[in-house]
Amino acid sequence: MGAIDLDTIAPLHWPTPAFEQAQGVGMTSQRTRDRLIAQLWQEGIRHPAVLSAMRVTPRHLFVDEALASRAYENTPLPIGYDQTISQPYIVGLMTQFLAESGTPLGRVLEVGTGSGYQTAILAQLADAVYTVERIAPLQQRAKAILDKLGLNNIHYRISDGSLGWPEAAPFAAILSAASPPTIPQSLIEQLDLGGRLVMPVGETTQRLIGIERLSTGLKTYDLGPVRFVPMRPGVEA
Ligand code: SAH
Repeated sequence: MGAIDLDTIAPLHWPTPAFEQAQGVGMTSQRTRDRLIAQLWQEGIRHPAVLSAMRVTPRHLFVDEALASRAYENTPLPIGYDQTISQPYIVGLMTQFLAESGTPLGRVLEVGTGSGYQTAILAQLADAVYTVERIAPLQQRAKAILDKLGLNNIHYRISDGSLGWPEAAPFAAILSAASPPTIPQSLIEQLDLGGRLVMPVGETTQRLIGIERLSTGLKTYDLGPVRFVPMRPGVEA
């Protein structure tokens, strides 16, 4: 059985001292985080920059206080408004697919800010993150935490993420945490040459799909079955 030496994975260009202040104790401590990282490594998340970002990021800050003690279990958790914070393994899998094109990533588009946890991981691997959410109070809460952590390379927008963020395109990477029936054409169009996109696709049954834009066309990867919340049109009133 392999093992992981956590000391060999150094952060890429974060964290700020604010991360250390957000350390936590007991069930939210660095030791608890390290156990999760060892588990992700066992499950095949091996990219050093991805593991190092997930290792230092205080996921307990992104969930309700009542759930903080469960924040380092490898499970999705409710974040209100009928939405969930993604399972750490899935965050690792999606981020790893993007990071395999080389880190640091340039500009990254995220559809579905949600709790902001995935945004925090991307912000540590990218020059800039453009994150779009359709439920304003969710994004406001996420922004407050991300600001507190000193992650200042993030741009926020309330809109329908299926349209992407045309003014900031093209993107080196695109990630969606909401599942549409088919991949929106605008997202494909906003992907840079050599760029990668990862998102769930499908309604009752979903697959995690990866796409790479090569000079010869699009290359598609099937990363397995998943269960995400549906991508919904428009913004919530
Ligand atoms: N990565 C987030 C996932 C949140 S769940 C986390 O781990 O917390 C997915 C999010 O996508 C929800 O917040 C939902 O409101 C949002 N969403 C759904 N459809 C959307 C759309 N068309 N545009 C933007 N956000 C959308």
